[in-house]
Amino acid sequence: MSANVIPIVDQRAASPVPVIPAHTHDPNGTLADTRGRSLRDLRISVTDRCNFRCTYCMPKDVFDKDYQFLPKNDLLSFEEIARMTRLFVGHGVEKIRLTGGEPLLRKHLDVLVGMLALIKTHDGSPLDIALTTNATLLAKQAHALKAAGLNRVTVSLDSLDEATFRAMNDVDYPVTDVLKGIDAAHDAGFASIKINMVVKKGVNDQDVVAMARYFKGSGHIVRFIEFMDVGSSNGWRMNDVVSSTDIVRMISSEMPLIQVQSNYTGEVAQRWAYADGSGEIGVISSVTQAFCATCTRARISTDGKLYTCLFAQSGHDLRALMRAGYSDKDITGAIGLVWGQRDDHYSEMRTEATAGIQKVEMSYIGG
Ligand code: SAM
Ligand code: SF4
Ligand code: SF4
Repeated sequence: MSANVIPIVDQRAASPVPVIPAHTHDPNGTLADTRGRSLRDLRISVTDRCNFRCTYCMPKDVFDKDYQFLPKNDLLSFEEIARMTRLFVGHGVEKIRLTGGEPLLRKHLDVLVGMLALIKTHDGSPLDIALTTNATLLAKQAHALKAAGLNRVTVSLDSLDEATFRAMNDVDYPVTDVLKGIDAAHDAGFASIKINMVVKKGVNDQDVVAMARYFKGSGHIVRFIEFMDVGSSNGWRMNDVVSSTDIVRMISSEMPLIQVQSNYTGEVAQRWAYADGSGEIGVISSVTQAFCATCTRARISTDGKLYTCLFAQSGHDLRALMRAGYSDKDITGAIGLVWGQRDDHYSEMRTEATAGIQKVEMSYIGG
């Protein structure tokens, strides 16, 4: 095990079964947590497995051949995911993001997308369904996913430099195949694809400007993400973070940028447009400029636990309620109770010391 990788304690078991409230009201989409934040986005991890070993997410030393991924029976079935989604939509969720692990490793994901596309929000609109993927399997699946009703795709790509990218995914995967996946998604009809680049100091910060330049004018939007202390296996240190302010400065010194209004309240990325009108980039500053105040996101782990924060130490076992035969009304009530008590604001409190707390891994609860 390398020096800065910390052995992990398995946090997956730490998830009590939520309480069913004695009296429940029909949800009307106005549920708020203790900080007045609504429930609007649901991220669903459809698998905890991945064909990459990104050093900042699933370091090889921890996620090795002995690592115990969830057994098949523990995974939520598509029917369970669709039911769960319906119950969350009852509380006001409008956006779904399928993630993982690598979500395209889950067989027949298009079938799940088709099931979710039938669910309507409170005002009768279709759900906004998005996917975050490393794109290795996207060329094969893009058309089927589009046909099934997937609305948006985000592709993770940390460098255009072969050596850097191969070292970061740590399975020697080439850049060219990811670019092919992006092109295939574009050809399948996905507009304005987002490209996520996690920036780690001394690892790929030298590639920020090249990444911006490559996608400038393409219609795709690169989003530069500050390296985060998700989970407890990636050896995070504040010194490894490149701030969004520095990222904007680096790009703007070569291709001037102007800050633009967010598209909606609670948008995670800050938007910056090229002064010459050739598109925009985004920066996600979860470390240097916390956005907890507008965080409307819940996460469902691969095995059906509800997490109310990306940096949570434990979840709420909704799958146990489902498999014990509780009604929609009961489980809806339990979700409402959990969200009503939510007080998470980890990014406002982060220090080097909190980074060491045993948190659940991102591949399990979904990015
Ligand atoms: N496997 C898919 C992918 O990589 O796109 C989906 C899951 S991945 C956990 C979701 C997103 O989380 C990716 O864009 C990834 O780069 C980001 N991510 C993972 N670990 C991170 C970390 N330590 N800091 C910042 N972002 C991270
Ligand atoms: Fe896999 Fe995505 Fe994590 Fe990379 S970031 S290891 S592709 S889950
Ligand atoms: Fe939301 Fe938790 Fe991130 Fe704050 S730290 S923005 S509460 S997920």
